[in-house]
Amino acid sequence: MTFKTTGIAASDGVAIAKAYLLTEPDLTFKKVEGQDPKAEGKRLDEALAKTQDQIKVIRDTAAESLGEEEAKVFDAHLMVAIDPELIGQIKTTIDSEKVNAESALKEVTDTFISMFEAMTDNHYMQERAADIRDVTKRILANLLGVELPSPATIKEEVVVVANDLTPSDTAQLNRKYVRGFVTNIGGRTSHSAIMARSLEIPAIVGTKTITDNVEKGDLVIIDGLDGEVIVDPDEKTVKSFKAKGEAFHKQQIEWAKLVDAKTETKDGVHFELAANIGTPKDLDGVLNNGAEAVGLYRTEFLYMDSENFPTEDEQYDAYKAVLEGMNGKPVVVRTMDIGGDKELPYLKLPKEMNPFLGYRAIRICLNDEGMFRTQLRALLRASVHGQLRIMFPMIATLDEFRQAKKILLEEKAKLKDEGIEVADGIQVGIMIEIPAAAVLAHQFAKEVDFFSIGTNDLIQYTMAADRMNQQVSYLYQPYNPAILTLIKHVIDSAHAEGKWTGMCGEMAGDQIAVPLLVGLGLDEFSMSASSVLKTRSLMSKLDTSDMKELAAKALEQGTVEEVTALVEKATSHLD
Ligand code: PEP
Ligand code: MG
Repeated sequence: MTFKTTGIAASDGVAIAKAYLLTEPDLTFKKVEGQDPKAEGKRLDEALAKTQDQIKVIRDTAAESLGEEEAKVFDAHLMVAIDPELIGQIKTTIDSEKVNAESALKEVTDTFISMFEAMTDNHYMQERAADIRDVTKRILANLLGVELPSPATIKEEVVVVANDLTPSDTAQLNRKYVRGFVTNIGGRTSHSAIMARSLEIPAIVGTKTITDNVEKGDLVIIDGLDGEVIVDPDEKTVKSFKAKGEAFHKQQIEWAKLVDAKTETKDGVHFELAANIGTPKDLDGVLNNGAEAVGLYRTEFLYMDSENFPTEDEQYDAYKAVLEGMNGKPVVVRTMDIGGDKELPYLKLPKEMNPFLGYRAIRICLNDEGMFRTQLRALLRASVHGQLRIMFPMIATLDEFRQAKKILLEEKAKLKDEGIEVADGIQVGIMIEIPAAAVLAHQFAKEVDFFSIGTNDLIQYTMAADRMNQQVSYLYQPYNPAILTLIKHVIDSAHAEGKWTGMCGEMAGDQIAVPLLVGLGLDEFSMSASSVLKTRSLMSKLDTSDMKELAAKALEQGTVEEVTALVEKATSHLD
């Protein structure tokens, strides 16, 4: 039976493929006493053998499709699944307590996990705890006869259906086979959505109930242009969405003609059009879409992709690859922004009531200076390979900026003392994503080299609306006059001090927002690579003096609807 629902259109395009369910299966069981130890031991052996085989397959597929580095975690899992000490203790428990294998497995692995997790200053042992947790889940699933999803092994075209996709789940998706994804939760600026845009696959988030309404193998249509999902569609519907997908593809071909064009308005004013990346792998998208710079490199993904803190050399290699890949064009690298929805399993942070308002980003870096200094050294060393700009995230106070900059200058001086070359004139800027910094932009502007407005967070903090919560996603209002007023103050403050302002939040690529931002005089627009060409096309049709007038009128409106209507009216004659 056909099922239709809607969600938040998170990444453009249309996908039609079979569903792959990435959901947590039910692994509950009861402890049973008085069992035959021999029979339970045999069940355990069979589950272990199956687990080992599965991990080997996953490991090999992951190495082939995602690369050796990504596959390493499965080597560690295999070590756990054959560990004689661990298996020995489970068997002893079965023998002595005469309990079912599930219960013995859980009892022993829980002890190991809590022992390793208690070693808070030993990252290696903490990682082993995570490995044991993963492998236990798999052995348990095999004992219970339940199938576990393993996205790394996907080998046919699918649409991934999930409750949510964490950034690390998203990183495991194979770009070759995953046609799109749809989730129950999330908003347009949750990181799964941002990553979908950099993978350039259609995505819909925040449908609330999709996982309850689709089964493995069902045909699913995802319309990432309008946020519609259709499960088990009839032939006529498939045909019409195929046509819609093809029309979008044709439009993309038109935009692609602008790949080497200048970014200029109709009256010849240039704006810098940049792209956001999460890993050096995203550079292809940046270059293929003709971006003039990297306006935001989210370095936290380097930390999240790794089993342990990336070393200074590993970081240097990644930064160098991006700087060289951009061939002298500017690259704004943001120091790590862990926290919020971006967790780092090996950095044991206490569970918080409000992670987006908690201990994150620069707040961690200024407290755990060692980690911060390692990143800064790697960046400074890499600076000779291109045009590096360094940016600090989540700055709330001038003090935080001064402390961060002081540490940066100390590391620079140390490197110079060691005879290591560092580029001159590296610009140092901040993200404006906390309202307090936006309000005081005129003071910050005297000390920073540039601003980049992070509207994903700036909007969530200004509107007090969690960016991950679809229930309040109507408050994600980029064109709300309150937001526009803050943006204007930031841009004007920078200009008054001869500095520049960019924007790297999703708003920069929003086609209603672009005319307003052109009117407000934003200097640099940084967005998902997939939005660059359509934005270049739109800008070429705009006249800056008309847009200035439009922005001035928009600032006088009371509601987002009024602003939207104004923009639509002002741009309706274009094309
Ligand atoms: C932002 O907050 O707008 C931003 C660009 O950073 P992130 O989305 O990574 O929080
Ligand atoms: Mg942010």
